[in-house]
Amino acid sequence: MSEKVILDGNVVANAVKEELKSRIDALKTKGITPCLATILVGEDPSSATYVRMKGNACAKLGIDSKKIHLDKETTTEQLLETIQSLNEDSNVHGILLQHPVPDHIDERKAFETIAIDKDVDGVTSLGYGQTALGFGKYPSCTPAAILKIMEHYGIDASGKHAVVVGRSPILGKPVSALLLNEDATVTTCHSRTKNLAEHVKQADIVVAAVGKPNFIQGDWIKPGAVILDAGYNKGNVGDVDYEACLANASAITPVPGGVGPVTISMLLKHTVDSAEGK
Ligand code: NAP
Repeated sequence: MSEKVILDGNVVANAVKEELKSRIDALKTKGITPCLATILVGEDPSSATYVRMKGNACAKLGIDSKKIHLDKETTTEQLLETIQSLNEDSNVHGILLQHPVPDHIDERKAFETIAIDKDVDGVTSLGYGQTALGFGKYPSCTPAAILKIMEHYGIDASGKHAVVVGRSPILGKPVSALLLNEDATVTTCHSRTKNLAEHVKQADIVVAAVGKPNFIQGDWIKPGAVILDAGYNKGNVGDVDYEACLANASAITPVPGGVGPVTISMLLKHTVDSAEGK
């Protein structure tokens, strides 16, 4: 890559959605409408916005969404019952529990209750384990989006050194596993990593999954590196100091318009995959 490439998430997301249209039509001729159930617990405004965006994206493509909004006082047991009833509902193909849930709820227990065939957001430990072993059906959507962007733009991870900054269960860890499965040599960094900049400076591929605005600095970027910024912070700011990093990078995802839109399209794809029984 000689010129700098802006990895446009909207282009990738539209390509994913375009491919889904005929598959959704084919399902409908068989009397099946893909359906994503979303569960929102409490009144967190950002969570409410994310759930609304996901519902709108479903509607635009002709995917049903079943929106369940539970009171912030909901107990873990009540949430588990709700998830269980969605597991048993044959009209529901995917279940998304919007997180974070209120503190008094056992979030891990709630995630683990989601049936593996409906775990379209890749939050169960079984789904994560299968992803890590290389045969997972539905990896977490943001890691899946990062790999999809790389595939779309012909960025081959094989033999490259990928440095992932962040190790959360939904992002840093699974994206590290996916990159390893693509034959990258992976370094996963976190808050206890010493000399973080020195690690990032060795990266051919940098994945930012930190949750801190403009955290990755321009002079940490090896000339020609590819940067995938999963961060999404207040004010539509990513985890990468965009302009400074762009100066050294060969390719970069912007924020907004990078990883975010592709994440939603992967959620739709997984829901359609599930409706097809894949
Ligand atoms: P998270 O659960 O808070 O995890 C952040 C990770 O960053 C942790 O592993 C943490 O290390 C590490 N970290 C924190 N400070 C660090 C430091 N100074 N140096 C090195 N590592 C550090 O966040 P998340 O859920 O993974 O999300 C990360 C970002 O991605 C956020 O901006 C979030 O909004 C965004 N996100 C975007 C999408 C999307 O669709 N685009 C989806 C999900 C998340 P420890 O493990 O040691 O604490």
